[in-house]
Amino acid sequence: MTKSLPLVFTAPRRGKPPTHLADLDEQGRRNAVQAAGQPPFRADQLTRHYYGGLTRSAQDMTDLPAAGRQEFVDALLPELLTEVRSIACDDGDTRKTLWRAHDGTLIESVLMRYPERVTLCVSSQAGCGMACPFCATGQGGLQRNLSVGEIVEQVRLAAASTRDGVLGGPGRLSNIVFMGMGEPMANYPRVIEAVRQISAPGPHGIGISARSITVSTVGLVPAIDKLTAEKIPVRLAVSLHCPDDELRNTLVPINDRWNIGEVLAAARRYVDATGRRLSIEYALIRDINDQPWRADMLGALLQREFGPLVHVNLIPLNPTPGSEWDASPKPVEEEFVRRVRAQGVTCTVRDTRGQEIAAACGQLAAAEV
Ligand code: SAH
Repeated sequence: MTKSLPLVFTAPRRGKPPTHLADLDEQGRRNAVQAAGQPPFRADQLTRHYYGGLTRSAQDMTDLPAAGRQEFVDALLPELLTEVRSIACDDGDTRKTLWRAHDGTLIESVLMRYPERVTLCVSSQAGCGMACPFCATGQGGLQRNLSVGEIVEQVRLAAASTRDGVLGGPGRLSNIVFMGMGEPMANYPRVIEAVRQISAPGPHGIGISARSITVSTVGLVPAIDKLTAEKIPVRLAVSLHCPDDELRNTLVPINDRWNIGEVLAAARRYVDATGRRLSIEYALIRDINDQPWRADMLGALLQREFGPLVHVNLIPLNPTPGSEWDASPKPVEEEFVRRVRAQGVTCTVRDTRGQEIAAACGQLAAAEV
């Protein structure tokens, strides 16, 4: 966390978002408030408005002196994301928003309403450096890490619009999944700080419990181990996509740095430390990783390593532009599920929300919009 005051007021360099309240620790916030000519206790007032009231609008902050209020709020809560457009599908239950950051970077987040929850899929990076060949975001490379403020803002904006009825009636944002653009474990310190602020109880945090936050990773082992040490009980999801190293080296290229055995061992340490069940993501790709023998191998491997403390999420592949790969036929998918379950491992097929608006898993690639 930076404590250097002048940063708040210097013009942003390209790539570096303006410093926001969310980027500062408590002392940094008080310092920044003082540098803006206000007494330090106003840091707490701003914090309550932003996290508790989900607002960055000076008009809502009637407990601040009217003189200079707008300038003060603009200095501490600068506008980090402007909406370019939102599109809805699934009868209004899915809503993708394209945001522009201060430097023109485009990012996306997707809000989904289910009968018993409202989930936001957030981006942790602009682009992604992991280069998985079936993922649209992976094709464009990494542009930059998002700041804590830019991650928290996606959540704050979605929580406010859910409360205000954007999904067709008042609701409450209940779940967060780090499954938008980027590899969250490659932007580790910012993602973890964002998780802390999202999960802290109101009015000093957004109040979405860590247990309702999922962090999804290709399997960056040192970062998984760091997460284990934090003792924050988020749900960990590992994008496995394959039970054997030879094929995984091509589907998830970072596998040649940390192989399946190493990734699952790190995940096991996380499960042991938190008692939380591991999620395994598996994009089912026709004739690539959908063979019955791979289902048997996957089920046996996960049963041996995790017993009941694992769940497999199959994701029917969302075809990306220019790729010849496709989802597996339904009967193949059903056979795959049956075989994984036959090993005693729970397995479900993820719904394909957002497909028609390119908002489904692996389709987020704002740079191409
Ligand atoms: N970098 C993180 C988050 C990525 S998005 C990770 O890899 O886990 C979340 C999930 O969507 C990942 O499991 C990812 O592999 C999967 N995914 C990516 N492209 C996809 C596609 N075209 N079809 C289905 N799932 C895809």
